[in-house]
Amino acid sequence: MKLIQSLVLLLMSTITLAQTKPVEKFQSLPFGAIKPRGWLKEQMQKDVDGFVGNLDLIVPDLINDPIYSTGRLQKHSKVKDLGNHKEGDVAGDEQYKWWNSETQSNWWDGYLRNVFLLEDKKGIEKAKKYVENILATQDEDGYIGIYDKELRYNFSSENGELWSKASLYRGLLAYYEYTKDENVFTAVKRAVENVMENYPFYASSPFYSGTSFNGGVSHGLTFTDVLERMYFHTKDEKYRDYALFLYKDFSNTYQSEADVQLKNILDPGYKLKSHGVHTFEHIRTLIIAKYAAENSELTNALDIYLERIKNATTISGGAIGDEWIAERNADATHIGYEYCSLQELMDSYSLLFQKTGKAKIGDDIENIFYNAAQGSRNPNHSCIAYLKTDNSFEMLGTKNGETEPDRKQTRYKYSPAHQDVAVCCNPNAGRISPYFVQNSWMKENETTFVAALLMPNVLESSVNGNIVIIENITEYPNQKEFKFKITQSKPSGFTLKIRKPTWVKKIKTNEVYRIENDFIVIERTFFTSDVINLSFETEIQVKKDNIGSHYFTYGVLLFALPIKAKEIVGKIYYTKFTDFTYEPFLKTRYLFKNNEKFRYKNGFIKTKLINQNTNKIEKVELIPIGKTILRQTTF
Ligand SMILES: [Zn+2]
Repeated sequence: MKLIQSLVLLLMSTITLAQTKPVEKFQSLPFGAIKPRGWLKEQMQKDVDGFVGNLDLIVPDLINDPIYSTGRLQKHSKVKDLGNHKEGDVAGDEQYKWWNSETQSNWWDGYLRNVFLLEDKKGIEKAKKYVENILATQDEDGYIGIYDKELRYNFSSENGELWSKASLYRGLLAYYEYTKDENVFTAVKRAVENVMENYPFYASSPFYSGTSFNGGVSHGLTFTDVLERMYFHTKDEKYRDYALFLYKDFSNTYQSEADVQLKNILDPGYKLKSHGVHTFEHIRTLIIAKYAAENSELTNALDIYLERIKNATTISGGAIGDEWIAERNADATHIGYEYCSLQELMDSYSLLFQKTGKAKIGDDIENIFYNAAQGSRNPNHSCIAYLKTDNSFEMLGTKNGETEPDRKQTRYKYSPAHQDVAVCCNPNAGRISPYFVQNSWMKENETTFVAALLMPNVLESSVNGNIVIIENITEYPNQKEFKFKITQSKPSGFTLKIRKPTWVKKIKTNEVYRIENDFIVIERTFFTSDVINLSFETEIQVKKDNIGSHYFTYGVLLFALPIKAKEIVGKIYYTKFTDFTYEPFLKTRYLFKNNEKFRYKNGFIKTKLINQNTNKIEKVELIPIGKTILRQTTF
């Protein structure tokens, strides 16, 4: 009897254990708690003065379409002319109806975050007016969206119901977090309730949409971003539970972008094949579902999914997005990545970092931002590449000159809008810096701050009600010295955890510290005005990519050989905003030379490579990929 009793007890405790939701390691901070400084702030100001701040003038028809208000979609709404070429488009016309909601909401999300972080008064006024106008569209039942009463929540085919909301509400919540305007929070809360009432919990199928292409429905899975943030504010489990329900429904319905479906993840023979952006944004849903679930099946699924994504990621952090993954592995010359994918993968890794506290994920985030993303910006003009490759031998529209049988490829160029394809990447290029900044500091508990990502920035937070300001004064990633300047109203004791990147060979500081899971932990009493000086030493690393080509890194930065090119002016959108393409003057390629010396000096890696045309050894100077247009990165 006793044995049975203890067995029952053991079984019960096992059940209790299995039913515990996983513990989250760090907490994220409200948007606006961290602001950019130094070169990063200057770059964001340039963006606001450039295409990020002017997209409404560059593509006015798309931004001014009253899709959330007087122009809501109805049963007989016509497909819109968005100014893009549609030949070779496998996805069909239905998606064009909702496209402007994504363009507008992602753009506004990035725009308002930038102007708040830059404390740009004019921009903040503009954002305020936008939010007031959006709130005025809310129906009595709480609906804020793009469909009229007859159509909403009532679909059997492709639609943008949840996607148009996810992209919009993310921006509204950021606005609330910065301004603390309770009206905005109440409006979003009511709008989310409206979704939960009309797609009842386990009694509806929000992702049912027939058996044809449904990219908009599939993007709608990012509605879990909104639910996650609602949970962050309210700690109400119903939002996470609803997110888990959405993931399950997504997994059990037909999806054209199906990589994240549970059955596909658990199928050992399955290879990623979906539209890249979807695959990478859906990581967040899987993370949120895992932390909402009371079993370990999703933990296993997340591990498998992340491993698959690693194989689809190039050395710069750019994951395949040109545009379907199509069961391929990453490649420096033949596989492109979409700017949207960079933002989505970076944002997903940021959430993963917050939940797991694993320092290595910080390296992945910095790799995407400092290499792939900086390397897809045009260093001389306000525009970005829609698609880019690590080895970029020409930017004349196609992927290094490769022709595609079923479409005229024009994405490999620099543009302030890319309207001929889709205005998706430029809005996301406006989101990436504010999101990068937002995740750079986290808290582990009331008295522990975590410098998760390294960059010039300033954090304003508190320890037990005492306001603490920490400014990271640095030229990182171009330099590796940091001065953490601490200001508070009275001396107090707290802990500072600074992520130690994997490439650090030596830490230099006068502080007493310990290393804990790749974090430098400094625990002491700080004065009202205090400073921590810290620097990292590193060495050039020569590594091999998945096909055996060599590449050079120094610290977080990936280095490349720049290729001189002729700049060709393309479509002129509005005043200074212009498309540019680039044709190389020479088609020389270089090979790696074994046993050659290399050294780092003043921002350059100096070494020798073999000129493939002449077979001669030449002295070369490599520069960070983020400063290049055309380049050879692997040798
Ligand atoms: Zn895009």
